[in-house]
Amino acid sequence: MKRIFLLTLLFSLYACGDENENTKKAEAPQAEQVSPLAKYEKSGVEMALQKVSEHVYYVQGKAGIATDNEGFISNAAAIITNEGVVVVDALGSPSLAALFLEKLKMITDKPVIKVIVTHYHADHIYGLQVFKEQGAEIIAPAGYLDYADAEIGKSRLEERRESLDPFVNEDTYIVKADRVLDKNTQMTVGDITLDIHYLGTAHSSGDLSVLVVNDAVLVSGDIIFEGRVPFTGGADTAHWLEVLEKLDNSNLKALIPGHGPAAKEPAEAIKLTLNYLKTVRTAMQEAVENLMSFDEAYDLADWSAFENLPAFGAAHRRNVYGVFLSLEADSMSQ
Ligand SMILES: [Zn+2]
Repeated sequence: MKRIFLLTLLFSLYACGDENENTKKAEAPQAEQVSPLAKYEKSGVEMALQKVSEHVYYVQGKAGIATDNEGFISNAAAIITNEGVVVVDALGSPSLAALFLEKLKMITDKPVIKVIVTHYHADHIYGLQVFKEQGAEIIAPAGYLDYADAEIGKSRLEERRESLDPFVNEDTYIVKADRVLDKNTQMTVGDITLDIHYLGTAHSSGDLSVLVVNDAVLVSGDIIFEGRVPFTGGADTAHWLEVLEKLDNSNLKALIPGHGPAAKEPAEAIKLTLNYLKTVRTAMQEAVENLMSFDEAYDLADWSAFENLPAFGAAHRRNVYGVFLSLEADSMSQ
């Protein structure tokens, strides 16, 4: 019987163009083996899925500017519930998200059912389509939709299609959110409770952070940067500082920032961003009050605490200039 079956199978494999039942049966298993992720350009970056607590894992983007390492500069987290996986942030290209998803498939057979986007910046959202196409619900802060529809969103994508080619390409698109949050929201997913904090305009024009209540782990998004100069373009640094000062980290067991390593000492982790924002704001506030020019104020200030951090050269002066302009505008309107 076996031989007859094998012969039939062989015949059906070679019987090109013959649309009989055997042909279909022989080809069907092959088609199923092609991963839906195969259509994305294969990423060559090293990405290690790290366990932070019982239910929480993350991958850590590398230090550098936006287009280094295929754009793998930001973190993404995964919360494994008994109903499915909740991902927080989707990385900077579909290729990176596909690689992240492959890593997740090694530790769980549950699908990704929700993706929470902490904010709209390109390094956190271009992987969304991978999860959306697999059926996940996309949850984003108010502010995300404005960006997704706006000219700035389109021109950023055009720029990244050039600078991150072929990983961000003509098939990359900005995914619309299925659900938009504009207030603190508690969400139960399977056996896990998530406290999602809506922070308003802080690092961007709408930030979320996600507390995994069961594990006391905070996935903070970009309100906290570790190990590199924070990016403050488009930020409201005054409100951002307020958010950080109010952040109750007393019961946290770990914190996953938007960039940099997960911290077991959350209070320490917020120090860098807090000190950075304070230093920049204080120096520029004095400059504006004393009617100094930007160049003069920049040269006079002491940046030594930050000048050895990655992204200092690429981001710092521009950050400071943005804060100077906003404080100058504030002083004019008073
Ligand atoms: Zn970021």
